[in-house]
Amino acid sequence: MTNPAITANGLRKSYGDKVVLDGVDLAVPAGTVFSLLGPNGAGKTTAVKILSTLITPDPASGEIRIGGHDLATDPQAVRAAIGVTGQFSAVDGLITGEENMLLMADLHHLSRSEGRRTAAELLERFDLVEAAKRPASTYSGGVKRRLDLAMTLVGNPRIIFLDEPTTGLDPRSRHNMWQIIRELVTGGATAFLTTQYLEEADELADHIAVLNNGKIAAQGTADELKRLIPGGHVRLRFTDPTAYQSAAVALREVTRNDEALSLTIPSGGSQRELRSLLDWLDSAGIEADELTVHTPDLDDVFFALTSSSVPNQPKETVR
Ligand code: ADP
Repeated sequence: MTNPAITANGLRKSYGDKVVLDGVDLAVPAGTVFSLLGPNGAGKTTAVKILSTLITPDPASGEIRIGGHDLATDPQAVRAAIGVTGQFSAVDGLITGEENMLLMADLHHLSRSEGRRTAAELLERFDLVEAAKRPASTYSGGVKRRLDLAMTLVGNPRIIFLDEPTTGLDPRSRHNMWQIIRELVTGGATAFLTTQYLEEADELADHIAVLNNGKIAAQGTADELKRLIPGGHVRLRFTDPTAYQSAAVALREVTRNDEALSLTIPSGGSQRELRSLLDWLDSAGIEADELTVHTPDLDDVFFALTSSSVPNQPKETVR
């Protein structure tokens, strides 16, 4: 990797005899979005806290470098290079959004005029100009998160840690936050994102690592991860037992469910494959009552890798 923003080798952390991180290797190129995925309690926040110097890793850990700085010997330089927005917001509800921003500018030792200019720019960029006049306690969740991120950016960090940035947000605010993160990365920043939302990692991340039982269970692009698990299928459901029987006998490679009167056929779900299946059903005079296409998604990967988790509803698209 020519220009790594974050590297960690053999990252370890235990609390007493509870091993939280059990030798985690990470490598995040600059200017990309990296997503650390994992079920609750997997150790995502612990990893972010270590990488952002809030807690120390176990001594047995290997080298960690952030923005080119060694975390063990130069934590000050690491802190100057990064911004962190956590699940627990740094926003003070008693003062206005603008006052929160100016306070942040003071903490970063910006001059008065520079602080005002930076605050105004960020408030404008995050569509917070109106809201900034009101006390932050009056903000909705989405507005508060935007302000929190704007405050993080006052110091112009090149590496931004976002710990579950959209947990609890409504879909519109979530999309809004995704857009902001994309723009930051287009501007050259590196984003290290933890999330429980597979859709979020799929949308944003160039590279995804799945954390489970203290180890990286798999990593790669969303597409690479999706290729790790068995492919998709088409399911046909029938109400007429005779139609079901004739289809079951005639179709090759089908898995039968005689109770549900449904047939599962392996399929990549492409238009061509679907058309040939539908043509075949037509020519055989068979009419299914329902046809659903299931393509593997990150949910499948996640649940296949994190065995202790219980899957949600199967994701199927009715066509
Ligand atoms: P995640 O962010 O993936 O939900 P965390 O990093 O918050 O997971 O926690 C991972 C595990 O470490 C959990 O089992 C949690 O209870 C434990 N843990 C976190 N912080 C501490 C602490 N200060 N003392 C003891 N156990 C902790």
